[in-house]
Amino acid sequence: MAIVVSALKEADGENRVAMTPDIVSRLVKSNYEVLIEQGAGVNAFYPDDAYTQAGAKVVDRNEAISQASIIAMIDKPSAATIQQLKAGQAIIGLLAPLTDQDTVKALAEKKVSALAFELLPRTVSRAQTMDVLSSQSSVAGYKAALLAADRFSRYFPMMITAAGTAKPAKVLVLGTGVAGLQAIGTAKRLGAVVSGYDVRPASRGEVESLGATFLTTSVSGAGEGGYARQLTPEETQQQQDELAGFIAENNVIITTAQVPGRKPPLLVTQKSVDEAKPGTIFVDLAASELGGNVAGSKPATTVTTDAGAQIIGAGDMASQLPSAASDMFAKNVQAVITYITKDDQLTLDVDDDVIGELLATKDGEIISNRLRGAMKLPERKAAEGTVSASSEAATDGQSTSKNDSKGA
Ligand code: NAD
Repeated sequence: MAIVVSALKEADGENRVAMTPDIVSRLVKSNYEVLIEQGAGVNAFYPDDAYTQAGAKVVDRNEAISQASIIAMIDKPSAATIQQLKAGQAIIGLLAPLTDQDTVKALAEKKVSALAFELLPRTVSRAQTMDVLSSQSSVAGYKAALLAADRFSRYFPMMITAAGTAKPAKVLVLGTGVAGLQAIGTAKRLGAVVSGYDVRPASRGEVESLGATFLTTSVSGAGEGGYARQLTPEETQQQQDELAGFIAENNVIITTAQVPGRKPPLLVTQKSVDEAKPGTIFVDLAASELGGNVAGSKPATTVTTDAGAQIIGAGDMASQLPSAASDMFAKNVQAVITYITKDDQLTLDVDDDVIGELLATKDGEIISNRLRGAMKLPERKAAEGTVSASSEAATDGQSTSKNDSKGA
């Protein structure tokens, strides 16, 4: 019997959908049965009949949840949805396991196999087609630069006209991972003068290869797995002081700094916001309920300061380019589905180096060692003879970093 895969309609405010008609038709051709909750794709401009034409069945939410072996979603399920899940079902999405342990515990209690994209071992080359963090960050970085250009009251490029010459905008990107590099590339293409900054010294080459200037501070914060580490309070203070001068010189500041599972670091203090020139645009991609990179930023809200600077809480940028973001997300989901199924069976091998990390929960257990560490649980030992993600990462990291520098 064909494996049944479903995709749910997201909560209000989320425009993306985890399955697109293109991916539906690919799955159907590969002998999966696909159910789509009514209206799931509407905000990403994929109407129900596009799914029907692709071979899916459009159903109500109860059926999409109860009939599926694998349920794809963008954001973590609500408590009500978790109550409807059954033991042995697999769910795939951005489940926020590192920051929402209550949801993790509820999924474990339900004995659901929860695959959380945040836990993907991104440096393993086989996992790259599943890398939702990269695909969505890339969309977000692009959209952030466009939004900044739209809100800025002057040109981004230099303009020489009979009525005078307009200087190019000065754009500073703080945090130059996948989103930051994409924001730099987009702002450069719009003609701005761009500089970038990150605590990972490795990002200098990536910033410079895009034609932007890399700013240096005395703080260095490379952590594990290619990520930044959390800075100490002293380092944070030092960084904020050193960045203040750079911030004051720029017209647009796009911030993207994240440390996985932690509150985003505060890079732009209230003092820096107060001293910003009138018309300065801050776009804070890290803005969430956990906080943001810019003092006073609020998720999905624009705050205008007394001095006339705008702080745009832009944690939802991928959702603001919903069709492109959904296309990539669905492709990442398809890669996971293909990886975890064989001969019409769900095969969730906890000793596989990718799946053993991607799995937050299975059969009532917390599987990912990264998550276990965050939950202060002892490390789970892999069966003998299996390759660990970290050992492959050591050999793969270098060969893959070239792709990342393009913010793919
Ligand atoms: P992220 O979203 O976790 O963070 C965004 C950026 O913020 C990162 O560059 C980080 O260094 C930076 N940052 C964190 N704290 C900071 C601070 N206090 N000040 C300034 N900057 C700060 O990161 P990401 O974009 O998901 O990527 C992180 C790294 O992982 C990058 O090196 C990227 O190239 C790498 N990566 C590797 C692969 C792969 O090997 N396949 C895939 C994706 C990403």
